[in-house]
Amino acid sequence: MKIVVLKFGGTSVGTIEKIKKVAKIIYDYKKKKYQVIVVTSAMSGVTNELIKKSREISDNFSEEEYDVLVSSGEQVACSLIAGRLIHQGLKSRSWLAWQIPILTNGLNKNSRIDYINKNKILKYIKEGGVPIITGFQGINNKERITTIGRGGSDASAIMIAKFFKAARCIIYTDVEGVYTTDPNKLKKAKKIKVISYEEMLEMASLGAKVMQPVSIQDARLNRIDIEVKSSFINKPGTLITKRANIINQKIITGISSTLNDAKVSLIGVKDRPGVAASIFKPLSKNLINVDMVVQNISANGKETDLTFTIKSDDLNKTKKIIISNKSISFRKLLFEKGVSKISIIGVGMITTPGVTFRMFQTLADKKINIQVISTSEIKISVLIDKKNTKKALIALHKEFKLDR
Ligand code: ADP
Ligand code: ASP
Ligand code: MG
Repeated sequence: MKIVVLKFGGTSVGTIEKIKKVAKIIYDYKKKKYQVIVVTSAMSGVTNELIKKSREISDNFSEEEYDVLVSSGEQVACSLIAGRLIHQGLKSRSWLAWQIPILTNGLNKNSRIDYINKNKILKYIKEGGVPIITGFQGINNKERITTIGRGGSDASAIMIAKFFKAARCIIYTDVEGVYTTDPNKLKKAKKIKVISYEEMLEMASLGAKVMQPVSIQDARLNRIDIEVKSSFINKPGTLITKRANIINQKIITGISSTLNDAKVSLIGVKDRPGVAASIFKPLSKNLINVDMVVQNISANGKETDLTFTIKSDDLNKTKKIIISNKSISFRKLLFEKGVSKISIIGVGMITTPGVTFRMFQTLADKKINIQVISTSEIKISVLIDKKNTKKALIALHKEFKLDR
């Protein structure tokens, strides 16, 4: 019998009614004689609430206790799903990560799944049971509960599919699949039938919340095909797979945008070897992720301007670190919160010249100023004023024929 892994996101288990729908989906797979392993996230909003509580208790809440606390929402969702399946006459039970166990390594809050012991779950499914496993959770070698980063139950599902050699791994969510851009932001967004791991990874890293980036890295490394589909509407979704399986590639596959970026500029920095390292070293030590970086060529050979972007949440911490950094000197420090990064993504751009020009021209025609640019082989990102995000999205979506 074939094993199928079904993952339900917080939006799919957000209410009791939705959990009943989810139970029906699971029931139908079971009736089709699949061996089903279910992975679930917490009911939507629950993890955010728990994080809020931790902040109210302490602005320096213990990271070990954070993981115990914020992973608890998954336990609730698991038992509700299992309870409904039992109500429908199936054999089912909840499995918390430590009971399996799902072993992780790395730091609290951002651990990675390293190993999953298959014995108990395999025995249970052979007996006809439907295991409902907590996503997002693991335990480390000190037997403490860990979590694997926000949105991490996607990665839990992929790793479970890997260890159990599942025939299929289906990510159920609140939209019908992966779209050319967030369908909740742009009505004209179109569902993508098939997308490569590389493009999905870029889209996810650049703001497409539908899949967590780490999960795509894990899927790509282990060559696991992922199906993304709706929990509410029974329609074909999106297949995420290797590039070789895809024909008829468009130049641009999708567009992602972020809203919570901030821009930091250091004006008149003394231009000497090692200055950039001196600026970024303490930021990296404090786990602040620096994204786009531009350094102007120094006109007089003595001074330069350096601009970079970070998450808005890290702005205050970044300010403090830069101001107290004795190893750098500069004339002025500028901060701006209202910026947004728009990225176009597609493997088609490797072989198609002129994509960069088309993107810049499209934005220029809409009088949208580009503040910072960064590129990779399959993506071009620009930083723009946040208030222009929607306008840029609409224009680029049309320019690269994603409306059709
Ligand atoms: P889940 O609760 O299932 O984990 P998420 O909220 O994490 O769901 O992800 C689904 C959401 O991702 C959608 O509601 C949608 O607004 C958003 N999203 C952003 N970009 C995209 C995209 N390119 N395609 C589909 N959904 C996207
Ligand atoms: N419940 C966790 C979160 O909100 C994990 C997930 O949703 O995948 O981040
Ligand atoms: Mg999610």
